[in-house]
Amino acid sequence: MNQYDVAVIGSGPGGYVAAIRCAQLGMKTAIIEKYDTLGGTCLNVGCIPSKALLDSSHHYEDAIKHFAEHGIDIPGEVKVNLKQMIARKQDVVEQNTKGIEFLMGKNKIDVLHGLGSFKDATHINIEKDGKTETIEAKNIVIATGSKPSTLPFIQLDKERIITSTEALKLKEIPKHLIVIGGGVIGLELGQVYKRLGSEVTVVEYMDRIIPTMDAALSKELMKVLKKQKMAFNLSHKVKAVERKGKEVIVKADDKKGQEVVLTGDYCLVCVGRRPYTDGLNLEAAGVKLDDRGRVEVNDHLQTNVSNIYAIGDVIKGAMLAHKAEEEGVLVAELLAGQKPHINYDLIPGVVYTWPEVAAVGKTEERLKEEGVDYKVGQFPMRALGRSRASMDLDGFVKILADKKTDEVLGVHMVGARCADLIAEAVTAMEFRASAEDIARMSHAHPTYAEAVKEAALDATDKRSLHS
Ligand code: FAD
Repeated sequence: MNQYDVAVIGSGPGGYVAAIRCAQLGMKTAIIEKYDTLGGTCLNVGCIPSKALLDSSHHYEDAIKHFAEHGIDIPGEVKVNLKQMIARKQDVVEQNTKGIEFLMGKNKIDVLHGLGSFKDATHINIEKDGKTETIEAKNIVIATGSKPSTLPFIQLDKERIITSTEALKLKEIPKHLIVIGGGVIGLELGQVYKRLGSEVTVVEYMDRIIPTMDAALSKELMKVLKKQKMAFNLSHKVKAVERKGKEVIVKADDKKGQEVVLTGDYCLVCVGRRPYTDGLNLEAAGVKLDDRGRVEVNDHLQTNVSNIYAIGDVIKGAMLAHKAEEEGVLVAELLAGQKPHINYDLIPGVVYTWPEVAAVGKTEERLKEEGVDYKVGQFPMRALGRSRASMDLDGFVKILADKKTDEVLGVHMVGARCADLIAEAVTAMEFRASAEDIARMSHAHPTYAEAVKEAALDATDKRSLHS
């Protein structure tokens, strides 16, 4: 029987990063993956393919809406070739998953394909094509991720009543796509199909989209998406989703309790994701779940069984690839006797619509709840030369800082390339920078990043120079 210092179950961003860091630290490491390709949700049916389709659809939208203004004339009609768009997306996925295979080889990590299940706390059975192999590992990391969840009354047929997984490989452009859930995934995929020509209606239970982010971001993003002709039904409680031939009928109650009936040809259900532990046989190892089906862990990401750890979407916290990666590194370094730390307050959140939305730290609502005395600095993207040059005028950067100490407590932004701009805020906040620290740093001109400096200047005695 093969013996390992560490066996990681699941090869998503949590699992494969944990495996690499364990190997770097000299541990004999195996990674177990039930699918043929490595990379988990993120690389196969999540972050990467969704961004590939967002990029392709963005190019198309630019071509039909903005090229003429830029002085680029295209003779003839610009058309979408959905088959090619999906094929390119799949190529991108393959390049990335092959990249993980390469990294596993480079780090001498044994890749074992098959369904991993606990035999006991130090043995894992790996089952593939009716054959079972058993390995022994001193330490085990559960990194089995999550799956799309649904509402109890919705029958997903994966044809027209679909999750994000199917939305990444549709064979036709929906005429009317009804998206249930105005969170990150629903809005990103909704925008893809809106750009490609679908009518898109978002139905959201809460009274705003991206409800966990700062309310100013919800408001700005919704304003922009409405301008792009996406429709929104907020404060609507979906109560039925029915399929009739090629039609999908969604029934919801609005906030007055009046029934609203929407008819489309596809319904994308994006109501969140559930931690995935099916088939793991956790009972055999005695590993406990919490009341929401997540693997219970302590601050060291250790389960109730001392040699078994869990990371990523399968435990509490934000379901984000970079959070899973940090946790993978943390567990590996703990196993090597180091003292790593994750600052969970500074995990950035991003929505890759265009304009992008990004945030780190506390929202204004949270600061109010906590009774913190804070000040706000804000700067509109439209006041930047860079934004005018590219005609990306929507959005703003908003910085929340402690009124007394000037320490930056939260940075919230909507606009072009905010997904990249947020890194500056994370760095600043990790070093507990004040708004004035950011305001006094030179930012290249012309860049979108100047909006961060200007918002910091605004937070520092309203000293913004360009608004
Ligand atoms: P996963 O990536 O889910 O990987 C778990 C792996 O474990 C899977 O490969 C699974 O097959 C395997 N596995 C499960 N059980 C077993 C078993 N018993 N034996 C063997 N293998 C098993 N996050 C971001 O940060 N940025 C984004 O832009 C972003 N976009 C997203 C877009 C979409 C459409 C979706 C669905 C998600 C997106 N996410 C994004 C979320 C991100 O994909 C997850 O947070 C991330 O993949 C979690 O990583 P993980 O390692 O915990 O689990």
